Amino acid sequence: MKKLLPKTGKQNMSKGALQSIARRECANYHDTKCLGIMMQSEKTDKNTKLYMWKDDDMADKPCSVEKGCGYFDIIVTPGL
Ligand code: SF4
Repeated sequence: MKKLLPKTGKQNMSKGALQSIARRECANYHDTKCLGIMMQSEKTDKNTKLYMWKDDDMADKPCSVEKGCGYFDIIVTPGL
């Protein structure tokens, strides 16, 4: 069964609630810190390319999902 975010949306969620989701669901969350591994896909005529890189601005720093995180918005929450 899929878990759903509250209908109020994550922008209305507390820091604790967002951190809880990140801790449970985000592949980058490790021991309260962010691994900083980002992903982006690009479709071409023949295939889809997946790019991965380490974001040094995020890596090895405390998870800051409550301040806004594109990875959380684009990769993590659509799968919930
Ligand atoms: S900052 Fe974003 S990518 Fe990093 S652990 Fe938190 S939710 Fe995940």
